Amino acid sequence: MSLFKLEYKSVELKLWHVFTIARGSKPTVENVFIRMQANGITGNGEAAPNRRYNEDATKVISFLESIPDRFFDDIRTPAELADKLDHWSSSDSSGKQIKSARAAVEMAWLDWWGKEQQIPLWKLWEASSNTGPITSFTIGLDELDLMQQKVEEAAEFPILKVKLGTDRDRQIIEAIREVTDKPLRVDANEGWQTLAEAREVVKFLADQNIEMIEQPMPTDCFEEMIQLKEYSPIPLCADESFEGEEELESISRAFDIINIKLMKIGSVVRAKDLIERAKEAGLEVMIGCMIESSLAISAGALLSLWADYADLDGHLLIENDPFKGLELDEDNQVRLNNAPGLGVKRVGRF
Ligand code: MG
Repeated sequence: MSLFKLEYKSVELKLWHVFTIARGSKPTVENVFIRMQANGITGNGEAAPNRRYNEDATKVISFLESIPDRFFDDIRTPAELADKLDHWSSSDSSGKQIKSARAAVEMAWLDWWGKEQQIPLWKLWEASSNTGPITSFTIGLDELDLMQQKVEEAAEFPILKVKLGTDRDRQIIEAIREVTDKPLRVDANEGWQTLAEAREVVKFLADQNIEMIEQPMPTDCFEEMIQLKEYSPIPLCADESFEGEEELESISRAFDIINIKLMKIGSVVRAKDLIERAKEAGLEVMIGCMIESSLAISAGALLSLWADYADLDGHLLIENDPFKGLELDEDNQVRLNNAPGLGVKRVGRF
């Protein structure tokens, strides 16, 4: 009999505000939560599948159902876990490349591994501190007065990330600047279609206290983004243009920063290695997220201990977070606690 028991459940997470970006709107997201049990210890993991990457809860569940019996029984270290998952994923292409599901499996195993040793993962991974960068808080697209209201509601956050990529980007920033002078990050989500359009918005943004611009143009406009990087006084960050497999040297021609999201990379262990390699390639690193509960965000928070920027607000956008325990300190820096594993606890049943 298998030592490990794997259970999962898909849960609809409700957003405080309908979340709108350049590609569309959503009032809820369907994430899949998994529980990995062995020796009386439970590790928790979460998949936040995103349609932009052709994933959904059904595909996550198919992935989980296809994991062979006794798969985890001989795994002793995070590296062995990542290697075995890589080997298995590459052995058969039938639906095994669901990255959010793979990330969730690693998360659950790592949480279990830390709990079994009664040590927080950040200590097991020898982070020099339990405190990461200040996280930004995202303001989704909306009517201008509602975006102003959201900015006012986010008074406690020192850095805001504003979704752009519309035909009214200038008005949005002007409206936000009526209510705050905080540093802003902007995310066009591939919304600027031509180099001319992108340059025009960048020119306007140049003196608006903008810390970075995320994914200005569609991923297939790579050559244009190389030219935009030369033009832009504001650092550019690759999100949709970086899914984890791309050559970092190539990415660094068009971008200054990469946004590493666990659900895109599909591996906590590989994401940690990636931070190191990105720095060697001259890139800065931001740890970002999808709309995720405190559980998956805690895995991102762990990675953020080695990163330059954090954009880890997914759990703050949802009303029914099934986990608790992830905290920001008084400066809104990500701070991991001393509880074992990922350091979060399930709230009630779901
Ligand atoms: Mg983004």
